[in-house]
Amino acid sequence: MMNSIVDRLKEVRSSIESACLQSNRSSESVQLLAVSKTKPASDIRSLYHAGQQQFGENYLQEALTKQQQLLDLTDIVWHFIGPIQSNKTRDIASHFAWVHSIDRLKIARRLSQQRAQDAPPLNVLIQINIDDESTKAGIQPEQLVEFAGEMAQLPNLKLRGLMTLPAAEASAQQQQQSFATMQRLYSELASQYPTVDTLSMGMSNDLESAIKAGSTMVRIGTALFGARDQTRSNE
Ligand SMILES: *Cc1c(COP(=O)(O)O)cnc(C)c1O
Repeated sequence: MMNSIVDRLKEVRSSIESACLQSNRSSESVQLLAVSKTKPASDIRSLYHAGQQQFGENYLQEALTKQQQLLDLTDIVWHFIGPIQSNKTRDIASHFAWVHSIDRLKIARRLSQQRAQDAPPLNVLIQINIDDESTKAGIQPEQLVEFAGEMAQLPNLKLRGLMTLPAAEASAQQQQQSFATMQRLYSELASQYPTVDTLSMGMSNDLESAIKAGSTMVRIGTALFGARDQTRSNE
């Protein structure tokens, strides 16, 4: 079992490479975000030492605890990818380099106000509710143009692109359609905003099709860290 997490990192990287090859893309065009929610700091450290630099967390308190344990890894890059309550924005603005889950202007404004002036701008992605699920976060595709226009005004945020979390029960056909819509929204946005270079799409189960549809960042949890314990308590 020694090094198994590092073996899984190699496997995930090679899946990314072969998906890139199949769609005639360079393997540098897709970044790997390791989603470490519910997993210990020691796992993050192992992956970091194997060359993984970018990590995604969903729950603020849990993330802050792990960040404290990993302060010596000064060039680790933290991404916040979970739902955001307004009383959490201050900590998110100061402890993360990226936020993927923005779907309310109120939250975006607070993050911009609370980002330290001497820090680089916070990299932000707009979350799209691509399958129109009532239980899921994200704006509707029709709202994107106006929403992005407002976001682009905020001085301490840098609009980098879009994120989506497709319906878990979608058929292969529906999933392809959703990914294709995301690809279109993303290229329209990128043609309007030069800072936009990131489409955060694809997880352990659908990374190949996401890469075929133009994803530039896959968010991988289970395939790297193993299955998560379902019974986590709320923070
Ligand atoms: C948990 C999570 C992931 C990782 O999902 P896996 O299926 O474990 O790879 C990706 N994105 C978001 C937003 C998540 O919450």
